[in-house]
Amino acid sequence: MGAPQELPEWPHLEKLLATVPTPFLMVNLADIRRRYLELQRVFPGVKIYYSVKANPAVQVLGLLRDLGAYFDIASIYELDRLLGLSVPPARISYGNTIKKEKDIAYAYERGVRYYASDSDEDMRKIARAAPGSRIFFRIITEGSGADWPLSKKFGAHPDVLFTLILEARELGLDPMGLSFHVGSQQRDIGQWDQSIAHCRYLFDACREKGTELSMINLGGGLPSNYLHETLGLDVYAGEILRFVEEDFPKNPPELWIEPGRGMVGDAGILASEVVLISQKNRRDIHKWVYIDAGLFGGLIETLGEAIKYPILTDRTSSLAATETVVRDYPRERADMEVVLAGPTCDSMDILYQNHRYRLPRDLSVGDHVFFLSTGAYTTSYSSVEFNGFPPLKAYFIDGDQPA
Ligand SMILES: *Cc1c(COP(=O)(O)O)cnc(C)c1O
Repeated sequence: MGAPQELPEWPHLEKLLATVPTPFLMVNLADIRRRYLELQRVFPGVKIYYSVKANPAVQVLGLLRDLGAYFDIASIYELDRLLGLSVPPARISYGNTIKKEKDIAYAYERGVRYYASDSDEDMRKIARAAPGSRIFFRIITEGSGADWPLSKKFGAHPDVLFTLILEARELGLDPMGLSFHVGSQQRDIGQWDQSIAHCRYLFDACREKGTELSMINLGGGLPSNYLHETLGLDVYAGEILRFVEEDFPKNPPELWIEPGRGMVGDAGILASEVVLISQKNRRDIHKWVYIDAGLFGGLIETLGEAIKYPILTDRTSSLAATETVVRDYPRERADMEVVLAGPTCDSMDILYQNHRYRLPRDLSVGDHVFFLSTGAYTTSYSSVEFNGFPPLKAYFIDGDQPA
């Protein structure tokens, strides 16, 4: 893995560029299908719960429904969308530890029976609103090693969970297992090892008290193909499954994973257009390149320059000959240092200024700038109408089928 990555379906992209305005996201469903099958292959026997928030488009959800995937939701709105697509509630888990009691009741009435929890208050809500449901308890993680950490907001210390788990039975719930999230775009596979060791500890402690846990939800964290290289999905899976085997040599637990980014990230290309190029000071060696996509239009994960997308322009070479460009990115001949910024009137709307991308010196207003691996957390994070700009539009192609 690591940039460069699988070649996009350029004929589809060229067709879109000729017919619709930028910015837009093009999602190749064929990439998601391939990724799902790959996840199934490298994580044999593991239940794949797609984290809906990464890309909640009906096209994506429908595809994964047909492939037999499970789904992890964070709200009743995501639930409604899945049910509207005839996803059976038995294939849905309510993985948000922060939920209103009336939303739990809503999910329960519609047949959802798996819930995440990490606090006494939440568990009592579940006991009242979703009696008898199966609970997995979320272990807190550090999030170190992750480009987009989710640390500290979710989960609780194993000792807290231990008390909750023993209490769950008394409340009429079924404490089935544990979950954790090592942080999104996790580049250190060892982070799973630590959390799995915590699971081992809790499995043992609970067994001594007569409660048998049986499931570990390994969460998200699987990477997309950004500028920073990561190991291949097969390496991630091999290592993670080995950690589980080492800690659970007998009676292996049921395993779930919840890929969001790792499922859809690489399937998207965000196309934008250069609006303005300027130089603020004659001595500056860099130019400012303003494009029509920004932090509020789908690229919020550039906040703090956390996620660094591979970037191409259509001037680097013709789209038809992009193969070499993708392969060789970033190239010396792309020789202008730029600060990349979005189009809105908020000074926060700067994509990259510390990491200086190099773009062709002859880049001009009207040229396209493409952000690769933008299939995750772009449309779902896009603002509704800041400065009047509409939310990021997405178009779906199926690259395995004729254009
Ligand atoms: C967001 C989220 C995921 C997906 O994480 P990725 O790193 O995008 O794969 C999985 N599980 C939970 C509970 C989440 O909140």
